[in-house]
Amino acid sequence: MDITKILGGLRIAPTHTAPLYLQLANGLAAKIQDSTLAAGTKLPPERELAKLLEVSRTTSINAYRLLEKRGLVITKVGSGTYVNDLSITNQQTTAMSWEQLFTPQYQSPLSSILRTLIATPTANETISLAAGMPDPAFYPLNIIEKALTSNKYPSDAADYGYIATEGYLPLRHSLANWQGQFGIHATADQFLIVSGSQQGLYLIVKAFIEPQDYVIVESPTYLGAIQSLEASGARILTLPSSDRLNLELLEDYLIRYRPKLMYTIPTFQNPTGRVMSLQDRQELIRLAAHYRLVIVEDDPYSLLYYGQQPPASLKSLDTYGGVIYLGTFSKTLLPGLRTGWVTAAQPVINRLAQEKQHVDLHSNNLSQMILHICLEEDSLSKHLAFVRSEYKKRRDAMVHAIRRYCNDYMEFTIPEGGFYIWCTINSPASTTELIHRAAAAGVSFVPGIAFYTNGTRSNEIRLCFVTHNEDLLKEGIRRMGRILTSGAANGTQPTHTAGLPII
Ligand code: PMP
Repeated sequence: MDITKILGGLRIAPTHTAPLYLQLANGLAAKIQDSTLAAGTKLPPERELAKLLEVSRTTSINAYRLLEKRGLVITKVGSGTYVNDLSITNQQTTAMSWEQLFTPQYQSPLSSILRTLIATPTANETISLAAGMPDPAFYPLNIIEKALTSNKYPSDAADYGYIATEGYLPLRHSLANWQGQFGIHATADQFLIVSGSQQGLYLIVKAFIEPQDYVIVESPTYLGAIQSLEASGARILTLPSSDRLNLELLEDYLIRYRPKLMYTIPTFQNPTGRVMSLQDRQELIRLAAHYRLVIVEDDPYSLLYYGQQPPASLKSLDTYGGVIYLGTFSKTLLPGLRTGWVTAAQPVINRLAQEKQHVDLHSNNLSQMILHICLEEDSLSKHLAFVRSEYKKRRDAMVHAIRRYCNDYMEFTIPEGGFYIWCTINSPASTTELIHRAAAAGVSFVPGIAFYTNGTRSNEIRLCFVTHNEDLLKEGIRRMGRILTSGAANGTQPTHTAGLPII
């Protein structure tokens, strides 16, 4: 059997809608299932396969990985990839070939990083500086309980049934009032309540983006946005995140590519913690108004400031109606309410509501009622004042600990708000290798690479300073210092990196 001939005959077309790796995996799967490739056959190494079919090595790696998941091949460490014995695997696994029935799924280069992150075992006592999660000890359960037992709860049973997709009307009114104090003047019909701002983002992508459309994002930026945009087939143009917005580059993009939208987190950005200056915001709006650019302003952190209040939101500066604003209670109150909102021009809200109907008809009524009562009773302001002062102490504790334990290895700017310290690491080890060392040392963080499109290499990491109390933060950073100053910790070399495209 001339395996090169068999494989060389596989047809892989870049123009096909399915990603290349999926086409390759499906082609190989067909040859395995009809026994053209017999059980036990050694398949060429990824590099050779890539060369033979003139695809990238990432494509062949991802194809083999998918086939392995489907049980069609097995990888023997240090030996290679072999066609599995289907007579055995068929008995062992389900009769349904689920993977073949699923629609093509975009495999982001980031997926492998996330897999590594998730697959890296962490001990129970691990101090997580990774997740962007408020401290559960600060969840305002008293406020929720008060709202639940208040007589402001609706007595009309109909309010507990299906409601308008746009959301619980009293909440849309109270949100409109509440946002008025931050200079965002919108009426209730310019609000769509969503199940977290991530859903809002997803609906916006659904409503605006077709494959090949151009979009602009800051680089680095929020991982959830990168994933939604990449999955839509958008072509991503990046604006390097820095203390000054690169307006020349932005204008160049606007003229050359006519992008569908720009996604930005102007205030206490995730992951960098940066704040776009008022002047840049005004310039951005001026340019966007001129080119009729849609701006998606994602704003989960602006109320979590630890010094001066940040500049006005883009939405409040919007002169041309093109800003779509995303808000959420996940970071200010608690993520489990799964309630966020979109504020935008009415036609946008209409279209997003239609998209939302395909997903969940409307967001949960009870969460919406609770939040409505919280806003009406102004219980949020007191809670915000409390968490601001606590998170400030935590930020300072982390800064202090970094200076004490990691001074020679980390560079950072102190963020004025939000959840994160973005650090540049000075170490010969890659940040993904450090993840494994960190896991062994009982601490976790997110490698910077996760926040760049196309898995751009980075020697940065994101540390979240709000989840734990000051003592734990200090201990977490002390452990970080240990992994940075020592070599690889006792036998914990990366186990997932072999053959991975980026790490
Ligand atoms: N946008 C940004 C910038 C975020 O950091 C997050 C949460 N990490 C979200 C959106 C999603 O938040 P939600 O819980 O509201 O879906």
